[in-house]
Amino acid sequence: MTLVSTLLVALALGCATSQPKTAADVVIVAGRVVTMDAKTAVLEPGAVAVAGTKIVAVGSPADVAASVDAKRTIDAPDSVLIPGLVNVHTHVPMTLFRGFTDGLSLEAWLQTKIFPAEKVGVTPESVRAGTRLGLAEMIRGGTTTYCDMYYFEDAVAEETKRAGVRGVLGETVIGFPVADAPDTDASLALTESFMKHWHDDPLIVAAVAPHSTYTVSADVLKKCRALANKYDAPLVTHFCETRAEVADVQKRFGKTPIAYAESLDLFSGRTVAAHVVHPTADEIAILAKRHVGVGHCPQSNMKLGSGAAPVPALLKAGIALGLGTDGAASNDDLDLFEEIDTAAKLQKLVALDPTAIDAKTVFSMATIGGARALGLDSKIGSIEVGKEADLVLVGGTRAGLVPRGDVWGFLAYIVKASDVQTVMVAGHILLERGVLTTIDESAAAREVTAWRAKIEAALPK
Ligand SMILES: [Zn+2]
Repeated sequence: MTLVSTLLVALALGCATSQPKTAADVVIVAGRVVTMDAKTAVLEPGAVAVAGTKIVAVGSPADVAASVDAKRTIDAPDSVLIPGLVNVHTHVPMTLFRGFTDGLSLEAWLQTKIFPAEKVGVTPESVRAGTRLGLAEMIRGGTTTYCDMYYFEDAVAEETKRAGVRGVLGETVIGFPVADAPDTDASLALTESFMKHWHDDPLIVAAVAPHSTYTVSADVLKKCRALANKYDAPLVTHFCETRAEVADVQKRFGKTPIAYAESLDLFSGRTVAAHVVHPTADEIAILAKRHVGVGHCPQSNMKLGSGAAPVPALLKAGIALGLGTDGAASNDDLDLFEEIDTAAKLQKLVALDPTAIDAKTVFSMATIGGARALGLDSKIGSIEVGKEADLVLVGGTRAGLVPRGDVWGFLAYIVKASDVQTVMVAGHILLERGVLTTIDESAAAREVTAWRAKIEAALPK
C-alpha cells in the first residue's frame, strides 16, 4: 500500500468512525428551505434538524441525514420551510372588536367607537378570550412571535405562554382611567409588577407600552422609559400614525412626535415604534441614530385612511423595519401574509414604480427584519444553527399555488395564511396538518362571540 492510499483509507475510516451523529427530536425535509440568513440562502431541497428548543443542523437532506440521528422526520416535498413570521405590532385582544367599524379616521375610530367599547368591555376574562382567538388566528397564519400592547397584559402573557407562542408584550399606559388602572400611577405600578413577574421567561418579553405622545404626558412618558430601562425591557408605542396626530403634537408641544420624544430622551433604551407613517426626514434620522425598531402596518393605515409609511426611506436609513397587522379592529385580521402582499404593492402604487420595493425585501421585513425591530434577531428571524426552532411549513398543491415561479414572489404574492400547514415555536409543534395543538379554537370563537354580544348590549344606544 502506498503512502497516499494508506492516508485515504485512514481518512475514510476517520469519517466513518470519529463523527458521532447529532441527536435530534425532529428533522423537517422540505422542497425548499428559505433560511433568511445573511446570504438569504435558499436550499432546494433542504432539511432542518431540531433538538429541544433549537435548530441543530441546516443543509441538504443527504448532509443532514448523514450527520443527524432524529426520532422523527417530517417530509414535505411540496412545501417551503420558512422562519416563523414576526408580527411587530398588534393588540391581540382586539379580536373582540373585529368587524366593528368602517369608514372612520383613527381619531373618530378611537373616540367614538374603540375607547367607549373598551370602557364597557375590557375585563381580564374578555382579554383572555380575545387573546386565545387571536393566537389561534396567528398560529394558523404562520406567526410565531408577536409584539402586543393592551390592558390586563398579564392575562395576555399567560394565554400566550399556554399557547406556546413567543411574545413581546407591553402593558399599556394611557393618560385617562382605563379598565385595569384608574390613573397612570396605578398603571405604572401594575406595569412594574407585570415586568417582575415575566422577567427572564423563555417565551415572553415583558415591555412597557405608553400609548402615544398625544395620550400620555411628558412626565409619564419619562417614567415609562425609566421603568423599561430598570428591567432592560423594550418600550413599545405608536408614532406619527396620522397627519392629525402630527399637527396635534406640534401644536401642543412645539415639536413633531418623534422629535418631541427625542427631547424627552424617550429613546434612551430599546424602543419599538408602530406606524411611523408621517415622519419628517429629521425624525427618520433620529430613529436610525437611536436604533428604534419600526412596525409598518400597511393594511391598518389604509383602512383608517392614515397614509402610506415611507418604507424605502426608512430602509435606506438603515432602520430595523418589520411588519405588523395592528389590532383586528382596524385591519380586520391578524394575517401577516396579507401584510407582506399589501406592503409590497402599496409602495409600488404610491411611487408609481414597480421597482419601489421587491418581494424579497418585504418577506425579509416579515421575518429577520421584524426580529431586528424587536431586538430578538440573535434568537429568531432566520433558520440557522443555534437559533430557536421557530419554523413554518407553507405550501401544498392547491390550484392557486401552481406554478410557483420565483420563491420570493411565491411567498409575497401567492401563498395565503390558509396554506400554512405546520407551525413550530421553540421546538414545540403548535399546528400540524392544519390542526391546532394548544388552543381549542371553537371554544375561543364561541367565547369571543358571547363577549361581543355582551359588549354591544352594554354600549350606550
Ligand atoms: Zn396600534
